[in-house]
Amino acid sequence: MRQTPVRPDASHNAGPFLYGQEADAVARVLEIGQYGHTDVTEEFEAKIAAFLGVEDAVAVTSGTAALHTALIAAGVGHGQEVIVPSLTFCATIQAILAVGAVPRFIEINPATLCVEAQQVVEAVTPATRAVMPVLFGGRAVDLDPIRGTLADRGITVIEDAAHAFGSYADTSRRVGATGVLTCFSFGPIKNLTCGQGGMVIPRTAEEAEQIRRLRLLGVVQSQAERATITSYQVDGFGLRYQLSSINAAIGLAQFDKFATTEVSRKELWRAYRSALHGVEGVELVDVDVDYSVPHLCVVRVPFRDEVFQFMRARNIGVGVHYPPNHLQPAFAPWHRSLPVTEQAGQEILSLPFHQHMTEDDVHRVVAALEQALSTGASR
Ligand SMILES: *Cc1c(COP(=O)(O)O)cnc(C)c1O
Repeated sequence: MRQTPVRPDASHNAGPFLYGQEADAVARVLEIGQYGHTDVTEEFEAKIAAFLGVEDAVAVTSGTAALHTALIAAGVGHGQEVIVPSLTFCATIQAILAVGAVPRFIEINPATLCVEAQQVVEAVTPATRAVMPVLFGGRAVDLDPIRGTLADRGITVIEDAAHAFGSYADTSRRVGATGVLTCFSFGPIKNLTCGQGGMVIPRTAEEAEQIRRLRLLGVVQSQAERATITSYQVDGFGLRYQLSSINAAIGLAQFDKFATTEVSRKELWRAYRSALHGVEGVELVDVDVDYSVPHLCVVRVPFRDEVFQFMRARNIGVGVHYPPNHLQPAFAPWHRSLPVTEQAGQEILSLPFHQHMTEDDVHRVVAALEQALSTGASR
């Protein structure tokens, strides 16, 4: 008998939101008995492509794998530089190192926690080969004003849209549909989950083909074609990055409910915005909620570490997204002074944000935050 899943509450910072159909979808795939790349994976790709209004979408095992394969497809390699904000999940940086390139960390706009076109242009060097804007919290990043400049210098834009599935880049196009190489994550806590998974939105049919080979160990023939021949051909570097049909089935079930997800995540963020209105000492990081499907609710507060402990002690699942990467031991060789990011790194606090939360939860979180700021935590 199937158990009712544990529903996370405000004691969780984030959590997968399952609608129930996911388990049935997985059961069907298990019964069919084909778990690798199958037509279930292809159906998932086709649905996502149609939803975004793009030609093609290539499913991979994770958001990190999406970034890694996108970097390879863009020809980024040894010794080259990738411009990237320091304030991102460490996965972004590890993907850059995976191709032998190095990160060039840049600052962010303190109000949005996203990079801006001007900051990107100023960081370009002769070694720059790509720019990886991070769509922090789900907010689109507009690099259109510098697209020409970047293209002239052979610099590819690869969007880390791990937070931004469903968000709009402008009034008509979703993130992923603006013609830049875009990477999504369908990890456990993302706006849409496959359990674990990711997606690359390629720019051309050739690029799609290249990424499909990369994710299949460099093998030319598709899995279906291989069933009819006695050999196969490996014609380049490749990785085991294809999305299993089990994970794709979860993604398909989630996708069917995405309209609900979209509405409830916006509502939750707006509920926080009204509840936080006028709360002294708290600054809400704006996600441009009319256009985005919010992934996080981040505030900036004084005495962040004390506030964090105060909230945790009351069983409220606050978090920090993210400790800046240029301060991580592993990325120390590329450290630069980034005062705006460092200050954000000390002030940002992610409030519990997932679709199981109710308005009451929001009020409880905000009440605790007010208490934290007015008492012990602020001394
Ligand atoms: C989640 C995430 C990734 C990596 O995605 P995975 O699916 O976890 O590999 C990359 N960048 C950002 C900003 C993320 O939040």
